[in-house]
Amino acid sequence: MNIHEYQAKELLKSYGVPVPAGAVAFSYAQAANVAEDLGGERWVVKAQIHAGGRGKAGGVKLAGSVTEVRQFADQMLGSRLVTHQTGPDGSLVQRVLVEQARDIAAEYYLGFVIDRGSQRITVIASSEGGMDIEEVNKTHPECVFQETVDPAIGLRDFQCRKVASAIGLRGKLMPQAVKIMKAIYRCIRDKDALLAEINPLAVVDKDQLIALDAKISFDDNALYRQHQINGMRDFDEEDPKEVEASGHGLNYIALDGSIGCIVNGAGLAMATMDAITLHGGRPANFLDVGGGASPEKVTNACRIVLQDPSVKAILVNIFAGINRCDWIARGLIQAMESLHIKAPMVVRLAGTNVEEGRELLDSSGLSFITAQNLDDAAGKAVAVVKG
Ligand code: GDP
Ligand code: MN
Repeated sequence: MNIHEYQAKELLKSYGVPVPAGAVAFSYAQAANVAEDLGGERWVVKAQIHAGGRGKAGGVKLAGSVTEVRQFADQMLGSRLVTHQTGPDGSLVQRVLVEQARDIAAEYYLGFVIDRGSQRITVIASSEGGMDIEEVNKTHPECVFQETVDPAIGLRDFQCRKVASAIGLRGKLMPQAVKIMKAIYRCIRDKDALLAEINPLAVVDKDQLIALDAKISFDDNALYRQHQINGMRDFDEEDPKEVEASGHGLNYIALDGSIGCIVNGAGLAMATMDAITLHGGRPANFLDVGGGASPEKVTNACRIVLQDPSVKAILVNIFAGINRCDWIARGLIQAMESLHIKAPMVVRLAGTNVEEGRELLDSSGLSFITAQNLDDAAGKAVAVVKG
């Protein structure tokens, strides 16, 4: 789960990371009030969406008056901001962050990620802040520095000093950098975060380090014990199909192909997507109905998959162990009848109660395309989409 920049800054501030004075606004009038309350002469108005690259896309504006703050907020709120991270449709801006603007002397990059190779939290830092770190890593790998943290010992001061000095933070900046790194590390551990990124970590007022941007992502599987974080969830930033699916206990992830998938088990769901791709098609989604799926759950799965307008055919692939093929078949029949499904549905059933399941489909009088195995099913689904 991701949170907005202003939420990440509030959280980091509570751990002692310096951030600019500012507040979120949901309307241009509120944005103007925030600017007046903050005082000063210049402000930054920042579109709050769960994607980076806003600066280059017009989602970060420097305002020289309260009137300008109002104008920028008015332009941003309700518009769709397209950045290199949002995809071509962009994201709807519903909140802006208004901050006191600071004069920037230098910009650094500071990130914390869980490195899957070493299975440890790794600090990534660079002197080339304000830019895309993937890009810096490609063009100037010598400017990107990494330090791995031993979870049993935690992040040590000497490691922070090593990182700080590697990217050129010296003198008065050094102890500030150590404090900021340790604070972020503590925050990550406490809150079950997967990633924290400060880009840029800026030098302002000659010798003050401050987090001018902040991004934090959290482990969904830990949200049950992270009530504060869960309360920051913004459902408007998530795919409504994914939100609805999770409410029904379905594991759904939207993709960009044309074959809707309804499968049991994450492994089989991945194999099904591979088989579709192998036959020259593209899956529209990943969907795991789980074990012991009731007919209602299967009907809900069909409804969610069909909410995606690019779905041209549905592939149902069930290898029933705990599941029952007759329940799956009942759910599919119910879906066909109640949802008036026009898209062809290819069904492969195997395992528990498979004979009953096939019999139900055959005697339903509905036009299911049955398949004998995964390869057959994928081939048929791709053929109906192409033909
Ligand atoms: P991103 O493009 O989505 O990563 O958004 P950022 O929050 O990183 O903002 C983009 C850029 O805006 C930063 O790299 C800064 O150069 C600039 N910026 C942000 N806040 C300030 C500020 O207070 N003063 C000045 N002068 N520039 C700022
Ligand atoms: Mn940034």
